[in-house]
Amino acid sequence: MPDLRTQLIASACAMQPAGLNRGTSGNLSVRHGDGFYITPTGMAYTSLVEDDIPLMALDGSHLGRRKPSSEWRFHRDLYASRPQVGAVLHAHSPFAVSLACLRRDIPPFHYMIARFGGDTIRCAKYAIFGSPELSNAAITAMRDRQCCLLANHGMLVAGRDLDEALALAIELEELCEQYWRACQLGDPVLLDAGEMAAVREKFAGYGQQ
Ligand SMILES: [Zn+2]
Repeated sequence: MPDLRTQLIASACAMQPAGLNRGTSGNLSVRHGDGFYITPTGMAYTSLVEDDIPLMALDGSHLGRRKPSSEWRFHRDLYASRPQVGAVLHAHSPFAVSLACLRRDIPPFHYMIARFGGDTIRCAKYAIFGSPELSNAAITAMRDRQCCLLANHGMLVAGRDLDEALALAIELEELCEQYWRACQLGDPVLLDAGEMAAVREKFAGYGQQ
């Protein structure tokens, strides 16, 4: 099995071709032991080698030659509060950012919204990047959900592993684009609570052989 840091770098490099980020915005982490590996601050993912990846403890301290992403707090707070979370992805992807700038929750315009755990995707209230206030707002917006938007900023996704976090982020960006497109034509017709509950029930048994 390859080093977890190698997998983290590969997943981070996959974010750009997937349309999730450009340049050095965004960050990705994976749980390891009592802490987590996280992408370092201000470095292009394609230039990363294993020793560039800091290991953070849940107290916010880190080991390694590089400084962790300045946005490490919501990664740490998700690992600390949710034992089932194995990887966290944050991106400034164009359609998620566009909707986040409206500071509105994404309503149940498509059944795949239920994939993230509820009937909406919430937008966390604004706070400056890297702050405890932003992390608290994100944790609140992600209650019973695997993702949220961050007002005037981007998206945040929590998965059980790197593959799931990346897949969910791609799915979320796709939903943001589809909602944006539908809104160009009028007011999308929304699914009601009963229809969304039926979708969640079907998802619960989906993929089981
Ligand atoms: Zn950010």
